[in-house]
Amino acid sequence: MPPGLLSPRGEWRLPVWNTPRRAFPTAVRARILKRDPICRACGVRPSTIADHIVPVAEGGTDDETNGQGLCSPCHDPKSAAERARGLQRWNERRPRQRRDPEPHPGVIG
Ligand SMILES: [Zn+2]
Repeated sequence: MPPGLLSPRGEWRLPVWNTPRRAFPTAVRARILKRDPICRACGVRPSTIADHIVPVAEGGTDDETNGQGLCSPCHDPKSAAERARGLQRWNERRPRQRRDPEPHPGVIG
């Protein structure tokens, strides 16, 4: 098992090799930030992040129509919620039951 898969509290973590790809291709990101110079969430701060409206992990594409410019303070909570959903999906996907260890063939019942 790769290190870090099971947290100290016994919960399963997303292994690093299984985390969804998060960033747009550079050219698409540049177009999104040019199109949305001001954060689309708060409408106040300048956009610094090209955000996936529908996360890639949830079926979103890298098309610029799936992108929106956000400022960092508006993006962070959304990103945290997406990570939480990703972890939940991972926990739902793992096998439910563990098999009981088979009795040692040398044990006399
Ligand atoms: Zn904002």
